[in-house]
Amino acid sequence: MIHGGAGALANVDDDKTAVRYLDSIHRILEYGREVLELGSSALQAVETCASLLEDDPIFNAGCGSVLNEFGKVEMDAAIMDGRDLAAGAVAAVESIANPIQLARFVMTESEHVMLISEGAMHFADHCGIKRTPIDYFYTPERLAQFNEARANKKIMLDHDDTQAGSEDQKYGTIGAVARDLKGNLAAATSTGGIVNKRMGRVGDSPIVGAGVYADNETCAVSATGYGEDFMRSVFAKTISDFIYMKGMDAESATQAGIEYLQRKIKGRGGAIVVDKQGRCAKGFTTKKMIHGWIEHGGKSMVGF
Ligand code: ASP
Repeated sequence: MIHGGAGALANVDDDKTAVRYLDSIHRILEYGREVLELGSSALQAVETCASLLEDDPIFNAGCGSVLNEFGKVEMDAAIMDGRDLAAGAVAAVESIANPIQLARFVMTESEHVMLISEGAMHFADHCGIKRTPIDYFYTPERLAQFNEARANKKIMLDHDDTQAGSEDQKYGTIGAVARDLKGNLAAATSTGGIVNKRMGRVGDSPIVGAGVYADNETCAVSATGYGEDFMRSVFAKTISDFIYMKGMDAESATQAGIEYLQRKIKGRGGAIVVDKQGRCAKGFTTKKMIHGWIEHGGKSMVGF
């Protein structure tokens, strides 16, 4: 399962834009299918799909990341392996084309779970990940969106079409969850965060248990939405706990997690979930969420 952000998505009412999103989700899902059918791990599948989503400028991650209050890109990403709860994350990194790949290196090549900012980039050099020229991240759409946010003196989320904090927003983070042929689970989430956010602001995406979680005994989760809400409700882990403690399946645990998010803090956003039986579920409190899934090797499905 993959997602490309939650929110109002007013722009997808325009057919051309909708087709562009759906094509991308469909293509990347099929790529993920191939990776899994070849016998690769769920971890490899989520890293591959997240990297492809990061490479598509229509999403708010990698190349298409939104800009912070100083017009700079600061990206967050995390990856988690359900086999042993191994996790790697990076926060506030710039000039890294695929932060999800750096997050995986943090998981496999360091003794830590999260590296941030300069330290994370220093580690990228150490791992042989090349810095990407800053121009790569400055798409005309992102500059226009940033200028609009600055002019209105507001913090906007990706593809925001109204006041920050209202329901009519799109949060364009990307994410992937997978179950492989051996039944192992993995999750990945990557984002540019929020338009015009404060320098140094870190959202939920790189926080294990908030924007990402994977445990072979329960499920794999990737969230998208207002990061602060997911951090306060430990959203991804809450969904996993519903399975662990109440024996729920993906669908009922996701709905229970969404109900908790909504009731406790009127949280804005959603999540994709695959459980240990390979059942797929999604839930969101926003009007829409771009997502797609392949359940038990069936047809690829896409939706908002
Ligand atoms: N969750 C992300 C963040 O708060 C935003 C998003 O989902 O687009 O950084």
